[in-house]
Amino acid sequence: MFKEKVLGLMNQAELQIDGKLKEIDRIIDQNQWKVIRTFQKHRVSDYHFAGSTGYGYNDRGREVLDLVYADVFGAEAALVRPHFVSGTHTIGTALFGVLRPGDELLMITGRPYDTLHKVIGQPGDGKGSLQDWGIRYGEVPLLEDGSPDFAAISSRITPSTRVIGIQRSRGYSWRPSFTVAQIGEMVRYVKEIKPDVIVFVDNCYGEFTELTEPTEVGVDLMAGSLIKNPGGGLAATGGYIAGKAKYVELASYRLTAPGIGGEVGAMLGTTRSIYQGLFLAPHLVGQAVKGSVFAASVFEQLGFVTHPRWNDPRTDLIQAIRFTSAEHLIAFVQGIQQAAAVDAHVVPEPWDMPGYEHPVIMAAGTFIQGGSLELSADAPIREPYIAYMQGGLTYSHCKMGVLTAIQNMIDRGLLS
Ligand SMILES: *Cc1c(COP(=O)(O)O)cnc(C)c1O
Repeated sequence: MFKEKVLGLMNQAELQIDGKLKEIDRIIDQNQWKVIRTFQKHRVSDYHFAGSTGYGYNDRGREVLDLVYADVFGAEAALVRPHFVSGTHTIGTALFGVLRPGDELLMITGRPYDTLHKVIGQPGDGKGSLQDWGIRYGEVPLLEDGSPDFAAISSRITPSTRVIGIQRSRGYSWRPSFTVAQIGEMVRYVKEIKPDVIVFVDNCYGEFTELTEPTEVGVDLMAGSLIKNPGGGLAATGGYIAGKAKYVELASYRLTAPGIGGEVGAMLGTTRSIYQGLFLAPHLVGQAVKGSVFAASVFEQLGFVTHPRWNDPRTDLIQAIRFTSAEHLIAFVQGIQQAAAVDAHVVPEPWDMPGYEHPVIMAAGTFIQGGSLELSADAPIREPYIAYMQGGLTYSHCKMGVLTAIQNMIDRGLLS
């Protein structure tokens, strides 16, 4: 079904990335064994999967799930719940949990992910945003080369700086993501200046791409989405917060209410899929990372600029590819959609998404709505014509998406 030229590109890419794929297999092995051993340690058993109703008191499955997540991430405690509606909600809950009026949140990795801008808000916006509550906000832009501006960070930390925020993944911007080792350096740096500061990491898209997680290098609190990496494609909704027990507890009071915290919350039949998703997550994350490496290799062969490049170290799922026209972006995103098992007959078109300055085109042929451990792609239609792809529950599916995109470009006369 693919033209000879397309298959030739695939073969060449697979020769090039062979060693890299083996490295990813080693990461999958280590993380898979870590997750299984943690399940074993906590004697995870069939009865943990029963869903609770009502208040959900004494839901042992929920309690053990928190312990398993905490251990897998090398954290003191975790709060893993289907009641988090999205990654943004989870991150917001963690921040509101630990910040008080007069405190400052200082982001040291530049402008955070788009959906967080409204959580941070403006003083007096009347929305109950962080700044509306009298929490101050500061942001230190990254340096030209994408690294943290340590000198500026040290001059911005004041006695009221309560939380230092770090975003691990590039998100949808053309900058490097931060490895766990780099996050560890940031933690050491800021704690030297202010030992009692709480370091928070937005860990979305990062889980299981490396052998360790931010909570293993001194990060106090982190959060992520269950419809991304750790949900393993099976969790239908939810998020997690992990870190120091006292901060996770404060976040739990925000999710429910002070005095209630994580002791209540019916799981409504979601428990088994959250456990099983965590069990699958190391493998599926590995499939998605292989897909990103494959995409980078193929598009580099075709002369496009990629970020990260195929051989760069990886710490998240996102692959950015810089094309040379809007037509390339559209052919790419439509190709990803055409290769989906779900909604392949739907043709994505650029549209004026609320909150965005330029039309955006998106491919999301997913089993879980918006689930982005599944193969998906986004591209704002503007120069410099960058498409972002992420996810893929199987490596074969990722390859099919990339090859369909290239086939489209050939059919539309966009490649010589
Ligand atoms: C996805 C993501 C979020 C927000 O998650 P939603 O589920 O879309 O609300 C925040 N930060 C980063 C880096 C993300 O990738």
